[in-house]
Amino acid sequence: MSAQWASETFRTLHAPLTQVLGDKTAKALSTLGLNTVDDLLHHAPRRYLSGTETTDLAGLHVGTDAAIVARVVSVERRRSARASRLEAILTDGTSRLAATWFSPREHLLDWWQKQLSLGVKGIFVGRVGMFNNALQMTHPDFVMLDESAEVVGRATEEKAAMARQVQRNGLVGIYPASAKVPTWRVGECAEIVLDSLGAFEDPLSAEVRQQAGVMGLYEALCEVHRPTDLARIEAATKRLKFDEAFALQLVLAYRRRDAQVNTAPVIEPRSGGILDAFDAALPFALTDGQLEVSQTIQEAIASPHPMQRLLQGEVGSGKTVVALRAMLAAVDAGYQAALLAPTEVLAAQHYATIRAFLGSAADGNTLDAPAYATDVVLLSGSSSAVARRNALNHIASGQAGIVIGTHALLQASVEFANLALVVVDEQHRFGVEQRSVLTAKGREHPHALVMTATPIPRSVAMTVFGDLEVSTLAQVPSGRADVSTTVVNSRTHPAWVKRVWERVSEEVAAGRQAFVVAPRIGASDSDTLPGDDPLAQPSATVESLIIELADALPGLKIGSLHGRMSAAEKTDTMELFARGALDVLVATTVIEVGVDVPNASVMVVMDADRFGVSQLHQLRGRIGRGANEGVCLLVTNTDPASPAAARLAAVASTRDGFALAELDLAQRREGDVLGSSQSGRHSALRLLSVISDADLIEQARGVALACVEADPQRHNAFNADIVASLENNDASEWLERT
Ligand code: ADP
Ligand code: MG
Repeated sequence: MSAQWASETFRTLHAPLTQVLGDKTAKALSTLGLNTVDDLLHHAPRRYLSGTETTDLAGLHVGTDAAIVARVVSVERRRSARASRLEAILTDGTSRLAATWFSPREHLLDWWQKQLSLGVKGIFVGRVGMFNNALQMTHPDFVMLDESAEVVGRATEEKAAMARQVQRNGLVGIYPASAKVPTWRVGECAEIVLDSLGAFEDPLSAEVRQQAGVMGLYEALCEVHRPTDLARIEAATKRLKFDEAFALQLVLAYRRRDAQVNTAPVIEPRSGGILDAFDAALPFALTDGQLEVSQTIQEAIASPHPMQRLLQGEVGSGKTVVALRAMLAAVDAGYQAALLAPTEVLAAQHYATIRAFLGSAADGNTLDAPAYATDVVLLSGSSSAVARRNALNHIASGQAGIVIGTHALLQASVEFANLALVVVDEQHRFGVEQRSVLTAKGREHPHALVMTATPIPRSVAMTVFGDLEVSTLAQVPSGRADVSTTVVNSRTHPAWVKRVWERVSEEVAAGRQAFVVAPRIGASDSDTLPGDDPLAQPSATVESLIIELADALPGLKIGSLHGRMSAAEKTDTMELFARGALDVLVATTVIEVGVDVPNASVMVVMDADRFGVSQLHQLRGRIGRGANEGVCLLVTNTDPASPAAARLAAVASTRDGFALAELDLAQRREGDVLGSSQSGRHSALRLLSVISDADLIEQARGVALACVEADPQRHNAFNADIVASLENNDASEWLERT
C-alpha cells in the first residue's frame, strides 16, 4: 500500500524500514512481518524481564521461548560415543534448570565452558524443552554477568545488545522474535528507529489524550522499547491499546455517519392496512419489550436515512414478530421487504409461520383477498424451476410484498420492484458483504434489521458489529414455560443414561416430542477428544444414536436431521417433526438456530461437553416454547472435576444468555471471536483484546463519536490518516466479514 498520508506523523511512521535501517536489516525484520517504522514500533515485547533479579525457574513451561537470569551452579563436560556435550546447571536459588550445548568440535565446547565460568550468573535465552523428565534449554544464547551485573568476557554485537538491553534500568523487553532475528536484534532496531525518529506530533490532541487518560504516543513508544518501570510500561501499553480501539471506533463511527448520507425509503405507518390486520389477529399481546423495540424501529424506518440495527434477544424472545411488524409496515407504505434466513429449513419455517400469522392477508393475488393483502413468496435453492420463475416475477413486479429466502435471494437474477427493508435472521452466519448485496437491490438504500439470538457481549457488539445500532429484547414473553436443565454425568452415574431415555418416553407418552443432539453425524466425522483425559471416549453420533434409540425407545417414531442431507430432505424431516409425525428427532446442531416446534419439550444433548456454552444455550432454546415445561438433559462422560464439567454446570445453573455469553467469551481465544485473520501476526488489533479490554473499547467509542461529530468531513489530517491506515490494512478484512 502506498498511501498518501495527510499528516507528517503518519508519513514518518509509515516510512519503510529500509529507509531507516538499510536493506539488510529491513529484510531480516520483514521475516517477522515488520515492514514499516510503525510496524516495528508497535511490535511490543511480549513480556519484560528484570536483568538484576533471578528468574523464577519453576514458572517455566515446556515449549516456550524464555530469557532467564540465573546463577550457574556447575558446568560439566560429558562425553558419549556420538558427541560431547556441555551441561550447566542453573538455579534461581530454589529450582534448577539444565542448559546443554552439543558439538562435535571440542574447541567450541571449550570456548563456551570458559565463557560460562567467567561469571557468577548469566542471561540465557532459548526454547524450554524437556529431557529425562526435567526442564532444560538446549543451546541457549547466553552472556555472563558478574556480581554487579556487568558483562564479563568478550561479547559479540548481538550479545552486547542483549546485555545492554538487560541492563538498561534493569528491565528488558522480550520481543516476539525468531532464530534468525533474535529479540536482541529487534530491541536494538527499535531503539535505533526511536532515536532517528525523535519526538513527533501526537495524532491524538492533548484534549483527547486528557479525556482518555493516556500518555503521549512518542513517550509511550519510548517506554515500551526503553522500559523504565513496570507501571509506566502498563500506562504506555494502555496508550497503544487505546489507539487501536480508537482507530476501530473512529472507522465505525464514520461509517455509521456516512450511511446516514444515503437516502432510504420513508416508511410511514398507515392505519387500516396489513399491519393493523396482523395486530388485530395476533393471538397474544406483545410484550413491553416488543412494543418498545417495534416503536424504535418504526421511528427509524420512517426516517429518510437507512436504519442499520441489530436486534438481539434470547431465543424465543419474539424477535420474528417484531421484524414482521416492520416488514408489514413497509408493505403498507407500498414497498417490499425481504427476510434472509441462514438455512433452507429456517427460510421454509419463516415462510410457514408468516403465512399462518397473516392468513388471507398473505394471498394478495386472489380475488377475494382483502385490499391490504400482499403476496408472500419463498425463494430457496431447492425451489423448482417453475416455482422459482413465478417467485422472481412476483418479486420483480412488486406483487410480492414479503420475500423470504436464503442466500438464493442474493443472486443477480433476483430483482426487486421497490425493496425498502431487509431483515437478516441470525446475523453471525451472514457477512456485511452479503447484507450489502441485498441492500444494493433497492433503488434507494433499504433499511436493514439484523436479528441474532446469540447474546453478544457489549465489547464485541461495539467492535464486530460496531456499524449497527443495537436493540435488545431482554424479556421472554410471559406464559412461556420454564426449562429445567440437568447435567447427567455417565462417568459418575452410568445408570442415569437409562433414566434419560425413560424421561423421553414419558414425555412422548404425554403427547410431546424430543430432540436428541449429537456432536457428529457418523463415526467417520472428526471428533474433538478432550485433550488429556485418559478416560475420554469418542463422542456420540447421529447414526449410532438412531440404532441405539430404536432399542431404547421401542415403538417411538424416530427421525434424523443433519448437514449431509439435501435441503429438501431436511425440510421434509422438519415438517414431519413439526406436525408431530415424528416423536424424536436425532440431529446435529443444524437445529441450533431458530427452529420452532412448540410441542417439543425435551432436549437431550449427548456429549454436551463438546459444545460451547452459547451453543448449548441456543439448543436449549428450542424447547419450552409452548405451554409445556421443558426438560434439557446434558449428557456427558467428562471428568466431573474438569473445566468442561464446570461449563456444563454453569449452563444448568442459569438461563441468562448474556451471562453465559460472557462466560463463553472468556473461554474462547481472541481469534475465535474475531475470525481467523485476527490470529495471524498482521492483525489490525495488535495488543487490544476484545475480551479483556471492554472498558477501553467503550471509552474509545465515546471519544471517537465526539471526534466524528467535531470533524464529520475528516478535515483533520490525523482523523483521515487513522481511518486510512485501518481501512488499508489487509488484516482488517474482518471488519467486512461481519
Ligand atoms: P425468536 O425469533 O426471538 O426466537 P420468535 O419470534 O420465533 O422468537 O417467537 C417464539 C415464539 O413465541 C413464537 O411461537 C411466537 O409466535 C411466540 N411469541 C412471540 N411473541 C409473543 C408474545 N408476546 N406472547 C406470546 N408468544 C409470543
Ligand atoms: Mg427466530
